[in-house]
Amino acid sequence: RTTAPTSIVVFGGTGDLAKRKLFPAFFNLFIDEWMPAHFQILALGRKPYTQEKFRRYVLENLREFSRNNNYTEKQWLNFSEKIIFVNFDITDENSFRNLHDKLTAFDVTCNRRANRLFYLSVAPSFIDKVSANLKKMGLASEIEKDRIIIEKPFGYDKASAVALNKLLNENFKEEQIYRIDHYLGKETVQNILAFRFANTFFEPLWSNRHIESVQITVAEQVGVEDRGGYYDHSGALRDMIQNHLLQILCMVAMDAPVEFESSLIRDKKAEILKAVRRIKPEDINHYTVRAQYTEGVINGKPKKAYKQEPGVDPDSKTETFVAMKFYIDNPRWQGVPFYMRTGKSMVQKKSSVIVNFKEVPNKTFVNSKDKLQPNQLTINIQPEMDIRLAFMAKKPGLDMTLKPAEMVFDYFECAPDSPEAYETLLIDALDGDSTLFMRSDQVEEAWDIIATIQEEWENGTYSPIYTYSAGSWGPQAADDLLSRQGHRWLSTT
Ligand code: NAD
Repeated sequence: RTTAPTSIVVFGGTGDLAKRKLFPAFFNLFIDEWMPAHFQILALGRKPYTQEKFRRYVLENLREFSRNNNYTEKQWLNFSEKIIFVNFDITDENSFRNLHDKLTAFDVTCNRRANRLFYLSVAPSFIDKVSANLKKMGLASEIEKDRIIIEKPFGYDKASAVALNKLLNENFKEEQIYRIDHYLGKETVQNILAFRFANTFFEPLWSNRHIESVQITVAEQVGVEDRGGYYDHSGALRDMIQNHLLQILCMVAMDAPVEFESSLIRDKKAEILKAVRRIKPEDINHYTVRAQYTEGVINGKPKKAYKQEPGVDPDSKTETFVAMKFYIDNPRWQGVPFYMRTGKSMVQKKSSVIVNFKEVPNKTFVNSKDKLQPNQLTINIQPEMDIRLAFMAKKPGLDMTLKPAEMVFDYFECAPDSPEAYETLLIDALDGDSTLFMRSDQVEEAWDIIATIQEEWENGTYSPIYTYSAGSWGPQAADDLLSRQGHRWLSTT
């Protein structure tokens, strides 16, 4: 836990992310006593708020979005004193001069140069201006103390991500740059490493010798809501596969680092991304399925087709669903398909990893009238948060009858009020721990993996855009992708 006095600067302090995620996260860290004794949050925005009005706005948002509404008036008052609204225009250098003065004044009250955490919660087009001005004014010049958090999307394709890394590296040292992927802050995602590397029983099985296939699903029930304009220029491949799903893949597939240390862990993840087989343009149709939702029913309510959503081009070719198959060309994973799927307006919200083990090699029960089900390990990330191991057991009784059984570890039972992903990531950034943030090489490799797919989908002729009804599990083509290899999507009921 960091004790250094810290100035937190939120560019986009009046925006959606700050309102729903950042302020609630800082507040929960504050009431759980994780924040340093001396800190300030400078919320930068262009709306004309007075201090009092802005603090009231934050309180209203806490009531709506905080996971914890169990706090005293005094706690809120103590927290609210730390929030300072600053009228700020990124395009105006005077705003940065004013910011400089505010940061220096805080340092004076601390009798030392405080740490600084700059959160760029603004459109990517502003990263250029903000970083150039931070550099020019020397606001983030202390490498050990000053950190910059960058939100997704990190680039639009490989070339833009490389350009963005170059720009950031011109202004800051790599160790100051925290590229956030909030999936990595989730308890259940972090627990994948604990589960794999702090236990003896699964790691010896964790390879192509015993694993038949792996499935990663991130299904959303929401559609594009009011973000159609943004989403229509992005799509599921960029918005989900390139970052969240490939990051989960790394956690599942990486080798053990020799120590639980940031650069060693990130090295192991980068190795996996490098080993992911690149798909050739002519094979894209064989390895990937893209689709768009048409109208349907979700939770008993009618849902519009994607092309009818506000902000979406009625002739849009943007995919709202992707299913695909990856191979990892290293000795551990050679030949094991990693299936991934993600989509919007699907039948239910579900993020999970399912590891399917091979059939038992011995013939002991070959004549059993009960079909043996291969072992299956399910890691539910959200909304359920648990680990389930499916295995065969003898049915109680006089004869030898088999039935599937399940062992469950439920996170909700042991930690019903566990921290939100943003809390974990913010405290790590305050502490200077970049383990759960993406390094430049990881981001570029992840873009490289999807580069040919992007290219082919935009310009090529091989891949049709399928459709699926809102409220379903996606198009039939996604099922066919697996059935060709004798597999099927699990948890699709
Ligand atoms: P938003 O549009 O709600 O907020 C953007 C903020 O930028 C506003 O506070 C606005 O006042 C400020 N801004 C715009 N022009 C400015 C200028 N010239 N000077 C000063 N401030 C200016 O956006 P958001 O949804 O909060 O997203 C912020 C970032 O976080 C984006 O990069 C987005 O991709 C990313 N992100 C958001 C979410 C989310 O749930 N909202 C999720 C993941 C990533």
